[in-house]
Amino acid sequence: MSIKAEYIWIDGTEPTAKLRSKTRILAGAVDGVAALPLWGFDGSSTNQAEGHASDRVLRPVFSCPDPVRGGEHLLVLCEVLNTDMTPHSSNTRAALAEVAGRFAAQEPVFGIEQEYTFFDGERPLGFPAGGFPAPQGGYYCGVGADEIFGRDVVEAHLENCLAAGLGISGINAEVMPGQWEFQVGPLSPLEVSDQLWVARWLLYRTAEDFKVSATLDPKPVKGDWNGAGAHTNFSTRAMREGYEAIITACEALGEGSKPLDHVKNYGAGIDDRLTGLHETAPWNEYSYGVSDRGASVRIPWQVEQDGKGYIEDRRPNANVDPYVVTRLLVDTCCTALEKAGQV
Ligand code: ADP
Ligand code: MN
Ligand code: MN
Ligand code: MN
Repeated sequence: MSIKAEYIWIDGTEPTAKLRSKTRILAGAVDGVAALPLWGFDGSSTNQAEGHASDRVLRPVFSCPDPVRGGEHLLVLCEVLNTDMTPHSSNTRAALAEVAGRFAAQEPVFGIEQEYTFFDGERPLGFPAGGFPAPQGGYYCGVGADEIFGRDVVEAHLENCLAAGLGISGINAEVMPGQWEFQVGPLSPLEVSDQLWVARWLLYRTAEDFKVSATLDPKPVKGDWNGAGAHTNFSTRAMREGYEAIITACEALGEGSKPLDHVKNYGAGIDDRLTGLHETAPWNEYSYGVSDRGASVRIPWQVEQDGKGYIEDRRPNANVDPYVVTRLLVDTCCTALEKAGQV
């Protein structure tokens, strides 16, 4: 039986990469991701090559059932390589694989909260033509046709993620009309990142059938409207076992050039979103605190109560590359925990 394999990859568009995909017909079922064939594409059409040497290689790194086509059909997430099999400069997964491997013994785990906004043409879904809806206040986790826009799409996306076997852990309506969130994790750094990219692809693909678009724009409406983030929840085994390691991680993120090293890699346009208003900390001031949604990093109250658990980095933009944010958090925090002997 022919299998339709949807090969998905991350392109080279600056400053924020886009997802691309195309279909390959396989003669029959394939046993695991390693058995899926390499493929190629025209890198000159994706900002990944010049026309005179345009071929780039797709290497499958993660696959799952395709919930859109059903049956035995597959989604195949790929990394992009040069023709000499070295990682292409747009391939941020390769660097994460190295760092995650180096610190695997600390068992880092992530849960990422992906916020996004539906658009109907030029306007966020639920914004009246030529005007604005009632100010923010009632929309977050709301119910009813006066507050909720796009729930049919959201439910279909959730169903698709579950049918694909992704580690999605919840959904909620957000603070601005037409704005929503789903969470992926807790999973290892490579798993959470691969699965978040596939969940994003499924979001766009699901919304396509409803004739709406979804965007990860971190500030889709200027003014007194919440931006869209990707709060990144993080723990190591030591953090899941004791409070000392939680504090070590929070302190490490504030040391020297670390705040800026992180923030400038947390998604394009971050200074528009991290203004200090709308439940954010200013992009150029690092802080952490228990229960504090105005801090850069929040320690959930339950974590203080239990004396163990995880931290929430609230800074990443919705358009962050998960391969980058997980690499930076593992590198900064696991290096400090190792130095402190808290492993
Ligand atoms: P918020 O209250 O900030 O909206 P959410 O419930 O949306 O929080 O997201 C919390 C995320 O943290 C979930 O994805 C969850 O899986 C993840 N999480 C829970 N425990 C851990 C842990 N020990 N390490 C990392 N992530 C975790
Ligand atoms: Mn959340
Ligand atoms: Mn949220
Ligand atoms: Mn959060």
